Amino acid sequence: MMEPARSQVVVVGAGPAGLAVAHELARRGMVYRVLERGRVGEAWYHHYDRLCLHTVKQVSALPGLPMPAAYPRFPSRAQFLAYLQQYVRHFALRVDEGVELCGAAFDGSCWRLDTSRGTLEASVLVMATGIWSAPVRPAIPGEERFDGPILHSRDYRNPQPFTGQRVLVVGAGNSGSEIAVELAEHGVATAIAVRGGVAFVPEPPSAVAVRLGAWLMRTLPRPLAERLLWRRDFGHLGLPLPPGSPLDHFPVVGYELPEAVAAGRVGVYPGLARLAGGVAHFDDHRSAPFDALILATGYRPALDPVAHLLTFDGKGRPMLDGYGRAQTNPRLVCVGYSYPTTEGWIQAIGRVAARAVDGIAALLQDGPGARPTADR
Ligand SMILES: Cc1cc2nc3c(=O)[nH]c(=O)nc-3n(C[C@H](O)[C@H](O)[C@H](O)COP(=O)(O)OP(=O)(O)OC[C@H]3O[C@@H](n4cnc5c(N)ncnc54)[C@H](O)[C@@H]3O)c2cc1C
Repeated sequence: MMEPARSQVVVVGAGPAGLAVAHELARRGMVYRVLERGRVGEAWYHHYDRLCLHTVKQVSALPGLPMPAAYPRFPSRAQFLAYLQQYVRHFALRVDEGVELCGAAFDGSCWRLDTSRGTLEASVLVMATGIWSAPVRPAIPGEERFDGPILHSRDYRNPQPFTGQRVLVVGAGNSGSEIAVELAEHGVATAIAVRGGVAFVPEPPSAVAVRLGAWLMRTLPRPLAERLLWRRDFGHLGLPLPPGSPLDHFPVVGYELPEAVAAGRVGVYPGLARLAGGVAHFDDHRSAPFDALILATGYRPALDPVAHLLTFDGKGRPMLDGYGRAQTNPRLVCVGYSYPTTEGWIQAIGRVAARAVDGIAALLQDGPGARPTADR
């Protein structure tokens, strides 16, 4: 049983976002603790074997500690995980591993937190639980009669179990594109279903260019930023650009998928309409047999313990003020549920964490029950 202590700030989640917030709280001498249901960086234990960051290491380090010089330009999953663990040690961050937040209630001035190790009290609750524990798995008509396995990309590790099979990857974000290319490289008969288009960008030339580009996109008026965002169109390969503003879409980094499609190593279909037996039927009325499906259909915010205390926008993101404080209760702060489209999330974390802690500091200065009247 955990001591029923009162921490001023309780941060839930020891991924990059929770650690960046903890570092900022510690730097300002604020009393905090981090609860993590698994281990530090838990999600990065589970990502697929081949995964490397798609953002360069110079912009993927958390505040105050660069990645080791020996790391490659795009660090591997294991290297990033080791870096997160080193981050905790380096700053002696206070992380309680193996403690899950199960529920939370607010009495007007204080949080009562129901955890897997007992009850805790806090003045401010920071949710940094990420998206990885909440995979989005759309229902596919006929899936109950599909003969083979249907797994989410979250559960994909490597091509080995798919040797000799025909695999359909559904969704062409960074995960779907990379998994399709990896399967094809290992001789698996691979196709990808793309509904709504996909924007590919080249690997960044340098960290300086990445920082400058992200700053321009943040500061320029939207119409000008949209005009500057050049995206190569692979529509002739069945990979058209998504409709609407390029500022509203997450790009896929690198041209490996279009290259694999052009070389005939990966087949392309439009949206998956339904399954019947071992056959997939697509929106353009084509059909093809498959042995397995991998749903690279993304994630949603993992906010279940506090979802009843939040309001959400049409995209399922919590509605927050400029400091990440919930519109429904400023003492509930959410960090990491709305990723920028023109820079990596890890790149933005330092800025977002510092701003979240600005908002927390303002609240705590005003006294335990204070509610801010406006953004400061
Ligand atoms: C496959 C993949 C690759 C990515 N690659 C990049 C990249 O190259 N560059 C980039 O900028 N971004 C990348 N991202 C996006 C993002 O940066 C990462 O997902 C990053 O880990 C998000 O950090 P986070 O701290 O917000 O969430 P997470 O890393 O998911 O951390 C959340 C933590 O909260 C814990 N938790 C959840 N619920 C509870 C609970 N109820 N109680 C206690 N603890 C809880 C989890 O165990 C987890 O450790 C990638 C995402 C994915 C899925």
